[in-house]
Amino acid sequence: MKRERVLIIGAGPAGLTAAIYTARAQLSTTVVVGRLLGGQISTTHEVENFPAFPNGTTGPELVENMRAQAERFGAKFLYESVTEVDFTKGSPFYVKTDNDEFMADTVIVTIGANPRTLNIPGEKEHIGRGVSYCATCDGFFFRGKDISVIGGGDSALQEALFLTKFGKEVTIIHRRDQFRASVALQFRVKDHPKIKLQMDTVVDEVMGADGIVKGMKLRNVKTGETWEKPTDGFFVFIGYDPNSVLFGEQLKLRGDGYVVIDEMHQTSVEGVFAAGEIHDSLFRQAITASGDGCKAALSAINWIGERESQLQPLDAPVELQPA
Ligand code: NAP
Repeated sequence: MKRERVLIIGAGPAGLTAAIYTARAQLSTTVVVGRLLGGQISTTHEVENFPAFPNGTTGPELVENMRAQAERFGAKFLYESVTEVDFTKGSPFYVKTDNDEFMADTVIVTIGANPRTLNIPGEKEHIGRGVSYCATCDGFFFRGKDISVIGGGDSALQEALFLTKFGKEVTIIHRRDQFRASVALQFRVKDHPKIKLQMDTVVDEVMGADGIVKGMKLRNVKTGETWEKPTDGFFVFIGYDPNSVLFGEQLKLRGDGYVVIDEMHQTSVEGVFAAGEIHDSLFRQAITASGDGCKAALSAINWIGERESQLQPLDAPVELQPA
């Protein structure tokens, strides 16, 4: 069992920024990275709107810079996932990872959100065989092929633009006649010679042959007309759901699963803070997640500062409280 002053669960912009702040404040900090350093942003090819990069940057570069900056101040990184937490007995909090156990004086939860699936026949069966939720990861496999992108928000349009680097043609299929995405992105897709728009249309089934995506069944929601269209790549960008299942009923959640926080970024448990997409369903930007991570870290630093005299030394043996 290890002791920590600050345990950060998740390593997207929120978690990495929090780590820069808590480690620089001389608080012993471990970041439990989870499956993917950087979270969603690391699968985003072009990042054009993160301040201080006049020519843009890439998600992986942004994340690696943040990680290196946190490490420079002494933050430790554990490339495992959290499997269990116990916030019920107050600080210090028990956190179990794949191969380790921690008692942490404070926890900052930054495990973000996961891509939504369409839940239609043929989708799950063809994940990694034509169906994808990550253009940066899988776009390369569809060089010179027909690509379909499902969704009408910023993610769908931005990733469709990225996929034009690979595909012969990219068709955006959206269930309404209006996009939700920003006007700037709408202009870019409408003017793009490789992008076709299929509005008022939903996909009823992903069709495959020999285990590989070959096409889909489409339906116009206004006329009811149905037809089949060949496609090789089927990319779904229809929003995200928060990764809050791990906390069960230990943290107060909104009806849609997002973690509830106060103005100090503290959750319903004193000493447990949250930042980024685990609580934010609205802004969902790398820069807002970073800002959140900073605020949660400052609150954790303050929380520890107010209790400094009561905290156990980090090398003291851990005494587990009775269950
Ligand atoms: P989103 O804004 O929630 O858009 C989801 C899209 O998927 C909507 O067009 C929605 O259609 C459609 N959709 C949802 N469920 C569907 C279903 N079952 N079948 C078919 N279509 C479905 O999600 P997002 O695009 O991932 O963006 C999330 C947030 O991140 C937003 O706040 C966005 O601004 C932000 N973001 C920003 C950037 C950027 O600034 N560069 C990039 C990516 C994301 P309806 O429109 O009909 O509801």
